[in-house]
Amino acid sequence: MTSAENDLYQQVVLEHKRAPRNFGHLAAPTHQAQGTNPSCGDRVAVELQLQGGQIEDIRFTGQGCAICMASTSLMTEAVKGRDLAAAQALQQHFRAVLTGEEEPENAPLGKLVSLAGVRQYPSRIKCALLGWHALMHAIAEQPADATTEEVQP
Ligand code: ZN
Repeated sequence: MTSAENDLYQQVVLEHKRAPRNFGHLAAPTHQAQGTNPSCGDRVAVELQLQGGQIEDIRFTGQGCAICMASTSLMTEAVKGRDLAAAQALQQHFRAVLTGEEEPENAPLGKLVSLAGVRQYPSRIKCALLGWHALMHAIAEQPADATTEEVQP
């Protein structure tokens, strides 16, 4: 990591840890999921309001290390108002950058690129991915009022 990258990383992580964005509960979430990272002790829960294939609103709660909280906070900012395909594509690029499959300068990450430095610390990658993991689970979840029963012909 260059010192400029390191400075940006430190600044963004500390800023989001101090004042997480979209922290709290939604009045009427349509989808939600939790994630835990036992190796660090991080726990986050993500609540979504999905409408017409779009993330209309998002909130999160939980407790974790600075990287986990900052990454989840940045994630909520990055996907709010986006459609699901865009959110999923962003998750794939972010994951690929952290696991070293993609170079940060080639990935369309926007502000998330400030967390690319986490790839230098393999033990913290799970911390940075936890919020995204919960988001993907929430998206895959059926709405609470939907039936899982198949209608028999
Ligand atoms: Zn952590």
